[in-house]
Amino acid sequence: MSPIADILRKYGFGFDKRFGQNFLTDVNLLRAIVSDAGITDGDAVLEIGAGAGTLTRALAEKAGKVVSFEIDGRLAPVLSEVLADSPNAQVVFEDFRGVTDEKLKSLVGEDFKVVANLPYYITTPIIMRFAEGALRPSSMTVMVQKEVADRLAAQPGSPDYGAITASVALCCDVKISRFVPRSMFTPPPNVDSCTVRLDFTERMPREEEAQVRRLVKAAFSMRRKTLVNNLSRAGYPKEKTAAALAEMGLRSDARGETLSYADFTVLKNLLSV
Ligand code: SAM
Repeated sequence: MSPIADILRKYGFGFDKRFGQNFLTDVNLLRAIVSDAGITDGDAVLEIGAGAGTLTRALAEKAGKVVSFEIDGRLAPVLSEVLADSPNAQVVFEDFRGVTDEKLKSLVGEDFKVVANLPYYITTPIIMRFAEGALRPSSMTVMVQKEVADRLAAQPGSPDYGAITASVALCCDVKISRFVPRSMFTPPPNVDSCTVRLDFTERMPREEEAQVRRLVKAAFSMRRKTLVNNLSRAGYPKEKTAAALAEMGLRSDARGETLSYADFTVLKNLLSV
């Protein structure tokens, strides 16, 4: 197989920044990502953003089946060539943002893993779709900007801890698997990256989880405000929140950033919402 750069040149492909097109070509790195994701031949894998198909091909070497979405139809001839020997890989040329759960189920079933070098402009919506939605993979191993990885894996009270940290922690164990410098991408972006693995767990019934999610959203609605004030703006009575915080051994001027997902669960029970 010719080097990817030659194949891209052959079809006159020009990178489109709007779509976050920063491709990976290093075979060792691609195989390491597949290994970080723990992919075996029983797995159905969903990839978002096939690009030139390098990660798709590495996934297809190990998985039972790979379905990859790609928004840019100009990549069709490149993908046909790169995936010529990967019969278990299927590329769907569609904007992933418009794909319904029903369509996903028909393609990958209900037991699947997500592995992707995500287009960075839609990293958060994609992660939150699976964290909050009804259709969940068993795990997601995704390449994200290092700053996002730090936020996902942050501890309560640290500067990186925020709404996304608590929201993801409600349903996932989070682990940064590897640091990937910008020089590993073609073309290199202006930030470094990390792969992060999110393993989905059933921490609590979904209805209860939705209630805790509402509380987390309200708690982080204004970053510099106290929890009591943020929750009060969202309609939770001030006195009741203050009493609940006291019962939890927290100060009345505590901020959302200091509470773990487990604290939010306790708070939800004390507020009985
Ligand atoms: N997987 C390839 C790799 O690792 O080299 C490409 C990764 S590149 C960071 C992201 C890919 O996602 C690009 O090919 C881009 O065209 C595609 N993409 C961007 N927005 C998309 C969307 N909304 N739906 C599907 N694919 C999208």
